[in-house]
Amino acid sequence: MQVVVVGAGIVGCSVAYECAKAGAKVTLLEAGRVAGATSSISFAWTNATTKFPRAYYDLNVAGMRAHLELRRDFGTTPWFTQTGSVEWRNRAEDQPAYLENFRQMKEWGYGIEWISRETLARMEPEVNIAGIGEGPISYFPEEGWVDPALYCAWLLRAAKERWGAEVLEFSRVTVIESEGGKVRRVRLADGRNFAADAVVNCTGGWADASLGDAQGIPLESTIGVLGFTSPVALTLRSQLHADDLDIRPDGAGRIMIHKISVDATMKGPEPLATDSPQAAELLRSAREVLPALEAVELEALRSTVRPYPADGFTCAGAMPGLEGHYMAVTHSGVTISPYLGRAVADEVVRGEWHADLDAFRPDRFFQNPSPVAQMSEA
Ligand SMILES: Cc1cc2nc3c(=O)[nH]c(=O)nc-3n(C[C@H](O)[C@H](O)[C@H](O)COP(=O)(O)OP(=O)(O)OC[C@H]3O[C@@H](n4cnc5c(N)ncnc54)[C@H](O)[C@@H]3O)c2cc1C
Repeated sequence: MQVVVVGAGIVGCSVAYECAKAGAKVTLLEAGRVAGATSSISFAWTNATTKFPRAYYDLNVAGMRAHLELRRDFGTTPWFTQTGSVEWRNRAEDQPAYLENFRQMKEWGYGIEWISRETLARMEPEVNIAGIGEGPISYFPEEGWVDPALYCAWLLRAAKERWGAEVLEFSRVTVIESEGGKVRRVRLADGRNFAADAVVNCTGGWADASLGDAQGIPLESTIGVLGFTSPVALTLRSQLHADDLDIRPDGAGRIMIHKISVDATMKGPEPLATDSPQAAELLRSAREVLPALEAVELEALRSTVRPYPADGFTCAGAMPGLEGHYMAVTHSGVTISPYLGRAVADEVVRGEWHADLDAFRPDRFFQNPSPVAQMSEA
């Protein structure tokens, strides 16, 4: 079976790896560089906390497990760090939702516990404990983060060396051609074409584009911004989540900073200077949590599209109207990808249906009412 995967972000690389492993002849076509788009500008936190409804939580938990299971394939997973997360809310008005999330996560069996200020001070002595409000502090030992570019590199190397997958960068797909209502071939902007029994669309924030006979899905993407400090001598190991601020180590002493209210200032994925108001706000917020950042500036800011299918949930499954055209697009893509890749390979290559994806099928965008919207209301 010839499977063409379009897009080599973390989703496409996972799908290509798993389809090749399942026995398909795989060609992965990427318009730019492997992991050159959203996947390399991601906070990349593996988690299922606050992921509602239950089916979406379960999908994220399956992704977290699949990250651990990849160790069996590789013996080592140098792209994955599992040092846990710490979270708190400073504002009194945010406490009810924070406490309710703790209760629900605990009931669903998620790794979550309260820790004291003394414990946090021992774990992470550089955190400004006095700056944390009155509310309780939660700890998530099973959470971690991924270096998506490394992840993609390792999976694609294995897909090529073990199963002969072909990976072509700078190869933009413009048309998916069909015959008799079935996918037949994929044509590139430069005129090359590739025969296909199945095409898996993993184009993330570009998945709303029609490619010849293949339609896209509606997206409501947003913009995300990350700040990176210059190297700083800190021993910080955990991820820190305080209100809408996220902080974590990013290797070689650099600290990565993300803040949702900074994302909200963006109209598009524009270049941002290290002396922009967004940089100042990221640093100001992070310094309140880590006073050692007082002497440090941002080395870089990066912004990109966060790919959200129009209802905010993962979209995975056969597209209506064109046999052999499959969609795999999601936010939380770093968390979900290793599981999504496996599930797509089961469905496309092995012909094994994944009932846990039923709430996330693309046809919900082409019918009314959407099953996942009904679940959210329940
Ligand atoms: C700031 C920020 C923070 C985030 N934090 C988290 C987090 O903490 N945890 C988490 O799980 N997720 C997080 N996400 C979301 C996560 O990063 C994404 O869900 C994930 O990276 C999407 O991967 P992808 O492979 O679908 O997209 P991409 O990495 O964008 O890959 C899609 C690829 O398709 C290619 N392409 C597009 N059109 C074509 C075409 N016609 N032909 C060939 N190639 C094409 C593009 O060039 C691109 O390389 C975050 C995102 C951002 C921006």
